[in-house]
Amino acid sequence: MEKIELSVRPKFLDDFIGQDEVKRQLKVFIEAAKLKNKPLDHVILSGPPGLGKTTLASVIANEMGSNIKITSAPVLEKKGDLIGLLTSLKDNDILFIDEIHRLSPSLEEILYSAMEDFKVDVILGGGSGRKGRSAKAIRLDLAKFTLIGATTRVGMLSSPLMSRFGIVLNLDFYDEDSLSKIILRTATINNIPITQEGALEIAKHSKGTPRIANKLLSRVYDYAVIHGNKVIDKEVANQALRFLSIQELGIDSLSLKYLKTLVIQFNGGPVGLNTISFAISEDKRTIEEVIEPYLLKIGFIKRTAKGRVALKPAFEFLNLDDNT
Ligand code: ADP
Repeated sequence: MEKIELSVRPKFLDDFIGQDEVKRQLKVFIEAAKLKNKPLDHVILSGPPGLGKTTLASVIANEMGSNIKITSAPVLEKKGDLIGLLTSLKDNDILFIDEIHRLSPSLEEILYSAMEDFKVDVILGGGSGRKGRSAKAIRLDLAKFTLIGATTRVGMLSSPLMSRFGIVLNLDFYDEDSLSKIILRTATINNIPITQEGALEIAKHSKGTPRIANKLLSRVYDYAVIHGNKVIDKEVANQALRFLSIQELGIDSLSLKYLKTLVIQFNGGPVGLNTISFAISEDKRTIEEVIEPYLLKIGFIKRTAKGRVALKPAFEFLNLDDNT
C-alpha cells in the first residue's frame, strides 16, 4: 500500500488531477514569481487529510525549481528546532510545515519576523536557564524562502499568522470523475489492470479522498489477484468492495494500532487517555482529533468517565482480522 502511494505522487501541476481552481490560481502565482525572479509568496493550504496538501507542496517546489524541506508542527518542540530549520534554508527554498495550526505560540512568533522580514532573533550564550551573564540577542538574516503551511482547519490559525500568508488555497473533496482518473493513473503506473467502470466503482467508495482511493485500489487489486481475476472491471470491483466493507470500514494503521492496544494490551479498557497515548507513542490531540472520532462514530469504542472502552464490534473486527 505504502509503495503504491509513494510511487504515484504527481510531480507537476499538469499531473495533479482535480482541484482546477487551486491549480489555476497557482499557475498564475508561480508564473509571476518566476518572471519577477522572486520566491513565491507564502502559501497556506487547507483541507481535510488525504486531499493532496503535501503532494501539492512538492508540486509547487518542482514547478518553482526549488528545494523543499518537509516538517510537521507536532515534531517542532523547541525554538531551536524551528530556528535550525529556518537558518538552513537557501534562497527560493520551500519550507513545508504540516498541521501548522498546532505550532506552539512561541514558535509561531518566530515565524512572524521570519515570514515578513526574513529575519530571526536568537539569544546566544547565557548558560543553562540562569540569568546568564553573557546572554546576547542577535538578529540573523534568513534566505528569501517560501513557507507553505498545511492545516485541516483554516479557522484554527491565529490571525497574526494567517495575515502573513499571501496565498490562501482551500482543497475540497474530489468528485467521482477526478477520483476515477486518479485511480486509473495509479493503476497505470503500478501495472494494475482495471477498466474505467471498475475505477468508477472504487471512486464511489473513496469518500472524495485520493488517499482512500489509492488505498482501496490496492486492496481491491489484492482481492482480484487472490481470486484469479485478470482485470478489475465493474463486477470484480463490486465483489471486492462488498468483501472489504466488512474489514475496511476506513480503519487505517494508526487506528488499528490504537484498537489493538486497547483490546489486547488493556483487555478492552477502560484506559485513560494519557496511558494509551504513552502506549502507542501518539500525542493526545492526535488521538482525540484524528483517531477516535471515526471509531466512536462506527461504534468501536466509547469514552467513559473511567477512560476509553472497546465495544463488541472492535473485538469482532480484530478477531476477523487475526484469522485472515
Ligand atoms: P494530505 O497532505 O492532504 O494529507 P497527501 O498529499 O499526503 O495529502 O496525499 C495523499 C495521497 O493521495 C498521496 O499518495 C498522493 O499521491 C495522492 N493524491 C492526492 N491528491 C492527488 C491528486 N490530485 N492526483 C493524484 N494523486 C493525488
